[in-house]
Amino acid sequence: MTMEGALMVLDPEQIESRLERVLLRVQKPGRYVGGELNQIVKDWDSVETHVALAFPDIYDIGLPNLGLAILYHTLNERQDVLAERAFVPWTDMEAQLRDHDIPLYALESKHALVDFDILGFSLPYETLYTNALNLLDLSGIPLFSSQRDEHHPLIIAGGHATFNPEPMHAFIDAFVIGEGEEVIHEIVDAYQAWKRSWLPRPALLRSLAKISGVYVPSLYEVQYQPDGTIASIAPIDAAAPPIVMKRLVPKLPPPPTRFIVPNVDVVHNRVSVEIMRGCTRGCRFCHAGMINRPVRERPVAEIVDALEDALDHTGFEEIALLSLSSSDYTHILDLVKAVSARFAGKHVNISLPSLRIESFSIDLLEELKGARQGGFTLAPEAATERMRNIINKPIPTQQLLEVTRSIYERGWQTIKLYFMIGHPSETLEDVQAIADLCKTVLAEGRKVIGNRANLHAGVSTFVPKPHTPFQWVPCDTLEQVQAKQDLLKKTLTGRGLKLNWTDPEDTLLEAWLSRGDRRMAEVVYAAWKNGAKFDAWQDQAHLDAWHQAFDQVRLDPDFYTYRTRFVDEIFPWEHINPGVKKSFLTQDYRWSLEGKTRVDCRQQCFACGILPTFAQMRREHPGEGWKCPEVSRGRVRAVTALQEA
Ligand code: SF4
Repeated sequence: MTMEGALMVLDPEQIESRLERVLLRVQKPGRYVGGELNQIVKDWDSVETHVALAFPDIYDIGLPNLGLAILYHTLNERQDVLAERAFVPWTDMEAQLRDHDIPLYALESKHALVDFDILGFSLPYETLYTNALNLLDLSGIPLFSSQRDEHHPLIIAGGHATFNPEPMHAFIDAFVIGEGEEVIHEIVDAYQAWKRSWLPRPALLRSLAKISGVYVPSLYEVQYQPDGTIASIAPIDAAAPPIVMKRLVPKLPPPPTRFIVPNVDVVHNRVSVEIMRGCTRGCRFCHAGMINRPVRERPVAEIVDALEDALDHTGFEEIALLSLSSSDYTHILDLVKAVSARFAGKHVNISLPSLRIESFSIDLLEELKGARQGGFTLAPEAATERMRNIINKPIPTQQLLEVTRSIYERGWQTIKLYFMIGHPSETLEDVQAIADLCKTVLAEGRKVIGNRANLHAGVSTFVPKPHTPFQWVPCDTLEQVQAKQDLLKKTLTGRGLKLNWTDPEDTLLEAWLSRGDRRMAEVVYAAWKNGAKFDAWQDQAHLDAWHQAFDQVRLDPDFYTYRTRFVDEIFPWEHINPGVKKSFLTQDYRWSLEGKTRVDCRQQCFACGILPTFAQMRREHPGEGWKCPEVSRGRVRAVTALQEA
């Protein structure tokens, strides 16, 4: 089987029989066989709609993905739907599949993916795009939406990256913008109605476009200015709204608890429960913080009960309490105490990623020290107070030092500090300050535990993201990034210090794609044809394939990376609305230039746009669950007026 070549139609028995011949020739065959504890297998012929949920990376990465687990469980709760899983094979298995003409299949039933009604991609980040194309190709499904007809699965995609769907617009029939738990059922209902109607495929696309939060790119047209910027984005069909507003669930649905227990090692072997969604801090570089507003919290009792149910049904020994900023969860101390009490003596390790320096307390540290493992991670992101004001992460250095000292005092030997270089207006002095701060923190640790203290610095490179206050700014050039990294490599050395960084070239791809327009779809396709895949894997990088692709389609990569956008520029994602207004982002960008900060918006609402947009939803869900203020009709009018001022 060659790239984009025809594939024989094989039934599950034929696929299994061919698999028997190849599985012993590949690493970790357990990735490709399914049959794990808690997988859901339904009778294919007794359900109306068959959905394949695809994570376009290998099983080891995709299986623990919480978004996939949520959709898998909510879809399989329906009698009329079956949801199965698919992942991208590693290169050795891909070669076997192609050599033996085995189409990519779902793990549960071994049905070929082309046999499913709906194939739903999870696209949390841009470096999965070429893998998504490879997955379609390995399935024998035409890559381009325009080449597919009534006999092919409907291809949908959701996830954080789809808040700028345009670089993938040619390959995906419909994107889900925002939270999927409710809208996925509306998509299935629309699909079923269309299937019964015997109407041609465009009728399905039009009915999907009418669902709130669904973007059907083929129903829009983009015009460009002579300088390559966008002149207009407009629907070309009455069914398509001019602006697609994101979907939101008013209350977090019950969390999945029957996690699939893998038979091979994967990146996380644990129970994960989302304790809250959204973030109120407003870090200006943070895509997730902007697109996931508002904050909605799950009650402590629901979390603890879910953990117990999940531990009973999986045998995992680690639990992760997930959110963008776990220590900001209102009842974090009560939660950790309740979890510790409920699972005392059961050797359960609690992991609490994403702790904010300014919101966790000594009491919380005391609770966590029982679960002490590895290093303690904090993310100041910048080392000078000037830079922290620009990015709106204003933590006083003194507070950071006190917190890190407390961590060493409670027995952790290694602190990991995460920084980003390349923030707007950053100088070499700001970068030098990263090295100085790390040494100061380590010196504090030495005072407490002597030479056992370690400090690991992780330094990534900032990439401006859509829908954030920094969506207008250029990236640092490769030379600037290199100079900053060289400075750190030279100065951040010594006993107990360790520095990790990302290759500057690895960041380029993310930078091109995250603010790419429709023309980038041609580049994605050409790069894949040139051999690009597994772009998120440093050791598999095919940057040459991407450079060659830009040449082939005659696009200038620097247009996407090193250009300061006009303040009133029409962005490729202008028709996608995350609920946060562009006027708020513009003001926040201006504030950053002035070094002005915003407090946590639980203390003061800054009228970002969420409340007027979702006022009705907020009114119907009063109380503590949401962290935006409650709304009366008068208040919505006032907030709207404030925004428009
Ligand atoms: S509406 Fe106000 S409280 Fe809600 S997310 Fe926006 S700024 Fe924060």
